[in-house]
Amino acid sequence: MNRNRSKFILLRDDDANFFTSPAALEQAYGFLFQRGLPLNFSVIPLVNTAATTQSKDFGPDTYEPFLPPDVAGPDQTYSLADNQPLVNFLQKLPNKEILQHGCEHKGDRQLYEFEATAPELLRCKLALGGDILAAAFGRRPTVFVAPQDQLSTPAYAMVAEQFQVLSLGWIDRRRLPIKLWPAYFSMKLRQRNYCRDRWHDLLITQHPGCVFSPFRNTRTELARLDDYVRRHDFTVIVSHHWEFFDRHGQWRQELHDLFKHKMLELAQACTFITFSELARQLAR
Ligand SMILES: [Zn+2]
Repeated sequence: MNRNRSKFILLRDDDANFFTSPAALEQAYGFLFQRGLPLNFSVIPLVNTAATTQSKDFGPDTYEPFLPPDVAGPDQTYSLADNQPLVNFLQKLPNKEILQHGCEHKGDRQLYEFEATAPELLRCKLALGGDILAAAFGRRPTVFVAPQDQLSTPAYAMVAEQFQVLSLGWIDRRRLPIKLWPAYFSMKLRQRNYCRDRWHDLLITQHPGCVFSPFRNTRTELARLDDYVRRHDFTVIVSHHWEFFDRHGQWRQELHDLFKHKMLELAQACTFITFSELARQLAR
């Protein structure tokens, strides 16, 4: 990428699902919508209310915090397409990209959803999730985000066949097919945050981890983010709209103020884009 070109920011919101209200997204990102800045929504097509996380932040086997406490528990699925106000809200946003965030966001035992290895199961999940999003938004997403950014080697191979971009936290070499290891080592050598699967024309991107979270020291994280932005041509910033609310639904004003301030500062110096736009930029 041309060093003189403006740096790019990709804001990726994760976990919007059947239970998400447009009001929550508006409260978190309205200031960006007003300014016409593009966002990338990594949405869960068919959320399962038994989905759990193994995150240290919440403790093992905690129900996913994006599930309202009064619905979490039963092994039931809910299609995003059945939340028409949310679909309409997202559909009307002029600058956005819809990404496929797994299928149910529910794994099996200690494994996250796309750490599964059975080809038939993976194929089914990818197809079902894609069908739901295609029906809701009129087109099948070309960008995939695995729940918890984790996926197995077989899942990787299937995603590579079907998507143009895979957005990951960090690229785990051990989970890449061996033929991609040279591309991985080249990425490391050049200190880049992306590599390309040229067999499938797939762009694989990394991000610097969650910065805006009540579980982090946000001020320390902001310094780390600034350094990351300085060192890379583009930065994927992952945020979760639900983290701006506490367990009781109370708004975390201080966290959001830090988020808003940093986003507006970055918008002065960088260009906010979608993942599809990034793929086009890197292909030039
Ligand atoms: Zn997620």
